[in-house]
This record gives sequence, C-alpha cells and structure tokens, in this order.
Amino acid sequence: MKSTYCEKKLRGIAEECQEFEHIITAMGYGYSLLNVSPDDFVRRCSDCVNWLGSDCEIFQREIIN
Ligand code: SF4
Repeated sequence: MKSTYCEKKLRGIAEECQEFEHIITAMGYGYSLLNVSPDDFVRRCSDCVNWLGSDCEIFQREIIN
C-alpha cells in the first residue's frame, strides 16, 4: 500500500492545479445531493477524478519538488 500524503500537500497541489476536477462534480450529482456547498468544498488531490490512488502524473511530479 502506498504511503499517505499529508493534507497540506494534497491541498497545496490541488490549489495550483489546472486539471483539478472534483469527483462529485464529475459524477454529475452537483453539490446539493451530498449537502456540500461550494463554500465548504475543499480542493484536495485525493478528491480529484485524476487522483487514481496517487498515481496522478501531475501530482507525482509536484510531490518530488
Ligand atoms: S490529482 Fe492530479 S490532476 Fe487532480 S488536482 Fe491533484 S495534481 Fe491535479
């Protein structure tokens, strides 16, 4: 199993990333169904469609810097 990354990194990288797409948005449910408003929506890599269990290429490139 892969090591887990710290929250700060997950958020920091997602903040800067142009490819971020939230899994909930991608599923087309919108925010209301899960009672998540865009205001308390946190951008983090592990909630991104491209995350793939940390295999995201952009993430891997950023994490080593
Ligand atoms: S998982 Fe990848 S594509 Fe998604 S925000 Fe992080 S670095 Fe960007």
